[in-house]
Amino acid sequence: MRAMVIEDFGGPLVAREVPIPEPGVDEVLVRVRACAVDHFDVAIRKGLRERASGPHILGHEISGEVAESGSGVTGWTAGDRVATTLYLVCGECRWCRSGRETICENFGGHVGVAIPGGYAEYVVLPARNLVALPDDIDFPAGAILANAVGTPYHALKYRMGLQPGERLIVTGAGGGVGLHAVQVGVMLGAEVMGVDLGQAKLNAAKKMGATRAIDPRIQPVDAAAKQWTDGAGVDGVLELVGPATMPRTLASLSKGGRMVIVGSHTGTEWTIDPGDVYRNEWEIKGSRNVSAAELAEVIQLVVDGSLTPVVAGTYPLEEAERLQKNVVAGKLIGREVLVP
Ligand SMILES: [Zn+2]
Repeated sequence: MRAMVIEDFGGPLVAREVPIPEPGVDEVLVRVRACAVDHFDVAIRKGLRERASGPHILGHEISGEVAESGSGVTGWTAGDRVATTLYLVCGECRWCRSGRETICENFGGHVGVAIPGGYAEYVVLPARNLVALPDDIDFPAGAILANAVGTPYHALKYRMGLQPGERLIVTGAGGGVGLHAVQVGVMLGAEVMGVDLGQAKLNAAKKMGATRAIDPRIQPVDAAAKQWTDGAGVDGVLELVGPATMPRTLASLSKGGRMVIVGSHTGTEWTIDPGDVYRNEWEIKGSRNVSAAELAEVIQLVVDGSLTPVVAGTYPLEEAERLQKNVVAGKLIGREVLVP
């Protein structure tokens, strides 16, 4: 099969012919029809993630068709269309059994990191990572459901418990996850203020339904939030950026407000006054990707038109290098997707 391979960390992506992998007992061989490219791929390639050194195939946002099932797999037939989740989980611990498998006790890493990913014609995945993809959703849209769409769905619906009429701030609102976070917030009945850098990203957030969009270099987020809410502050903050925005977004919360942290790309430390947290009864929570059951909900919401995956374009596998450069440049609106 054709695959884009990195020989080692930091090296180029090279087009190669490699053997089609064989599925183990509880695994499925998937013919990759689409695989999105995102920041995580770039980080892995630099060696910043759990991957051991040596030749590797990136790609964790995958959709495709079942090609072959392992001997222990039931319920899937060759040709079935599938979306996929990207966490390798045990299926047996208390978190897996209670539907919170993204915090699995025996987390085995990510697809495209701990095991070969989707920058290839075929990929082997655990059967539990597959979710049926209806004909109504094309493969490029299907590829971005688990990460770009599912991540904010889990965060806003299940971790924040966002309610109709509430006011929500989304940082990084013009990014791949952010655009869908704005959509999910609006779908849940909230009013959304998007925060991002540059007019193109702000316009994109507005197009997704944000009623306000601000560039924090021009107006501090907390000042904008107070102005928006007559001084009260917002009900929720979805943090996709990190310590660069967190002090101001935390200060934007109303009493009883909730911050949910999904990403931290701008550092690892941030100072909080605990007094602010208890005096205001603020809630600060983490949120990690999406469960397979929630991904099935996301798929239904896309089918009925409540959510629209934003795909910036589709490209041949061999253009993976250029797509990663576009991710690094930070100018994309929506995900670019490889169609091997
Ligand atoms: Zn588990």
